[in-house]
Amino acid sequence: MDECIFCKIVEGKIPASVVYEGETVLAFEDIQPTAPVHVILVPKRHVGSMMDMGDGQRELAADIMEAAVKVARLKGVDETGFRLVINCGPDGGQLVGHLHMHLLGGRKLTDGMG
Ligand code: AMP
Ligand code: ZN
Repeated sequence: MDECIFCKIVEGKIPASVVYEGETVLAFEDIQPTAPVHVILVPKRHVGSMMDMGDGQRELAADIMEAAVKVARLKGVDETGFRLVINCGPDGGQLVGHLHMHLLGGRKLTDGMG
Protein backbone atom coordinates (compact mmCIF):
# COMPACT_ATOMS: atom_id res chain seq x y z
CA MET A 1 0.00 0.00 0.00
CA ASP A 2 1.61 3.19 -1.23
CA GLU A 3 0.36 5.59 1.40
CA CYS A 4 0.37 3.24 4.38
CA ILE A 5 2.83 4.38 7.03
CA PHE A 6 3.26 0.91 8.53
CA CYS A 7 3.83 -0.65 5.09
CA LYS A 8 6.54 1.96 4.61
CA ILE A 9 8.13 0.94 7.90
CA VAL A 10 8.00 -2.74 6.84
CA GLU A 11 9.65 -1.81 3.53
CA GLY A 12 12.33 0.23 5.33
CA LYS A 13 11.23 3.41 3.56
CA ILE A 14 10.73 5.27 6.82
CA PRO A 15 12.78 4.57 9.91
CA ALA A 16 11.59 2.72 12.97
CA SER A 17 13.25 1.22 16.00
CA VAL A 18 12.69 -2.46 15.27
CA VAL A 19 12.34 -4.71 18.30
CA TYR A 20 11.61 -8.01 16.58
CA GLU A 21 11.27 -9.27 13.04
CA GLY A 22 9.81 -12.61 12.03
CA GLU A 23 8.72 -14.04 8.71
CA THR A 24 5.27 -12.46 8.81
CA VAL A 25 5.39 -9.97 11.71
CA LEU A 26 7.41 -6.84 12.48
CA ALA A 27 7.52 -5.16 15.89
CA PHE A 28 8.83 -1.65 16.50
CA GLU A 29 8.80 1.02 19.19
CA ASP A 30 5.76 3.30 19.19
CA ILE A 31 6.80 6.82 18.21
CA GLN A 32 4.60 8.35 20.93
CA PRO A 33 4.76 5.84 23.77
CA THR A 34 2.06 5.96 26.44
CA ALA A 35 3.92 3.55 28.73
CA PRO A 36 7.61 2.81 29.42
CA VAL A 37 7.24 -0.20 27.12
CA HIS A 38 5.07 0.50 24.07
CA VAL A 39 5.68 -1.67 21.05
CA ILE A 40 3.61 -1.91 17.87
CA LEU A 41 3.27 -5.32 16.18
CA VAL A 42 2.15 -5.44 12.56
CA PRO A 43 1.66 -8.10 9.90
CA LYS A 44 4.31 -7.48 7.25
CA ARG A 45 1.77 -7.66 4.46
CA HIS A 46 -0.95 -5.04 4.50
CA VAL A 47 -4.10 -5.91 6.43
CA GLY A 48 -6.39 -2.94 7.00
CA SER A 49 -7.94 -3.76 10.32
CA MET A 50 -9.20 -6.53 12.55
CA MET A 51 -12.27 -6.68 10.29
CA ASP A 52 -10.02 -7.92 7.47
CA MET A 53 -8.87 -10.87 9.56
CA GLY A 54 -11.49 -13.18 8.07
CA ASP A 55 -11.28 -16.76 6.89
CA GLY A 56 -7.83 -18.13 6.32
CA GLN A 57 -6.03 -15.71 8.63
CA ARG A 58 -5.58 -18.04 11.57
CA GLU A 59 -1.91 -18.56 10.97
CA LEU A 60 -1.24 -14.83 10.79
CA ALA A 61 -3.29 -14.23 13.96
CA ALA A 62 -1.24 -16.88 15.75
CA ASP A 63 1.99 -15.39 14.41
CA ILE A 64 1.09 -11.99 15.88
CA MET A 65 0.29 -13.51 19.27
CA GLU A 66 3.50 -15.54 19.27
CA ALA A 67 5.47 -12.44 18.31
CA ALA A 68 3.87 -10.55 21.21
CA VAL A 69 5.14 -13.19 23.63
CA LYS A 70 8.64 -12.89 22.16
CA VAL A 71 8.52 -9.09 22.37
CA ALA A 72 7.36 -9.27 26.00
CA ARG A 73 10.45 -11.34 26.80
CA LEU A 74 12.77 -9.10 24.76
CA LYS A 75 11.44 -5.99 26.52
CA GLY A 76 11.64 -7.60 29.96
CA VAL A 77 7.94 -7.40 30.84
CA ASP A 78 7.24 -11.14 30.70
CA GLU A 79 7.30 -11.35 34.52
CA THR A 80 5.84 -7.95 35.40
CA GLY A 81 3.02 -8.18 32.89
CA PHE A 82 1.68 -6.20 29.98
CA ARG A 83 -1.43 -5.38 28.00
CA LEU A 84 -2.21 -6.17 24.36
CA VAL A 85 -4.59 -3.82 22.54
CA ILE A 86 -5.99 -3.85 19.00
CA ASN A 87 -8.02 -0.78 18.10
CA CYS A 88 -10.48 -1.25 15.26
CA GLY A 89 -12.30 1.45 13.32
CA PRO A 90 -13.31 4.98 14.33
CA ASP A 91 -14.99 4.14 17.64
CA GLY A 92 -12.12 1.83 18.53
CA GLY A 93 -9.67 4.68 18.09
CA GLN A 94 -7.79 3.17 15.16
CA LEU A 95 -5.70 5.96 13.64
CA VAL A 96 -3.41 3.95 11.36
CA GLY A 97 -5.20 1.83 8.75
CA HIS A 98 -2.85 -1.14 8.93
CA LEU A 99 -3.74 -3.75 11.52
CA HIS A 100 -1.54 -3.43 14.58
CA MET A 101 -1.36 -4.66 18.13
CA HIS A 102 -0.05 -2.45 20.93
CA LEU A 103 2.05 -4.12 23.64
CA LEU A 104 2.05 -1.89 26.72
CA GLY A 105 3.93 -2.41 29.96
CA GLY A 106 6.64 -1.22 32.29
CA ARG A 107 4.22 0.41 34.69
CA LYS A 108 1.02 -0.50 36.46
CA LEU A 109 -1.62 0.16 33.81
CA THR A 110 -4.89 1.70 34.91
CA ASP A 111 -8.05 -0.35 34.85
CA GLY A 112 -9.66 2.03 32.40
CA MET A 113 -10.83 0.14 29.34
CA GLY A 114 -12.20 3.22 27.61
P1 AMP B 1 -3.94 3.41 16.80
O1 AMP B 1 -4.63 4.56 17.48
O2 AMP B 1 -4.29 2.09 17.43
O3 AMP B 1 -4.15 3.41 15.30
O4 AMP B 1 -2.43 3.60 17.09
C1 AMP B 1 -1.50 4.03 16.16
C2 AMP B 1 -0.17 4.08 16.89
O5 AMP B 1 0.86 4.16 15.93
C3 AMP B 1 -0.03 5.27 17.84
O6 AMP B 1 0.27 4.80 19.15
C4 AMP B 1 1.11 6.06 17.21
O7 AMP B 1 1.93 6.68 18.18
C5 AMP B 1 1.86 4.99 16.44
N1 AMP B 1 2.62 5.48 15.32
C6 AMP B 1 2.19 6.31 14.34
N2 AMP B 1 3.17 6.55 13.46
C7 AMP B 1 4.25 5.83 13.89
C8 AMP B 1 5.59 5.67 13.40
N3 AMP B 1 6.03 6.28 12.29
N4 AMP B 1 6.43 4.88 14.10
C9 AMP B 1 6.00 4.27 15.22
N5 AMP B 1 4.75 4.37 15.72
C10 AMP B 1 3.90 5.16 15.07
ZN1 ZN C 1 -0.03 -1.15 5.35
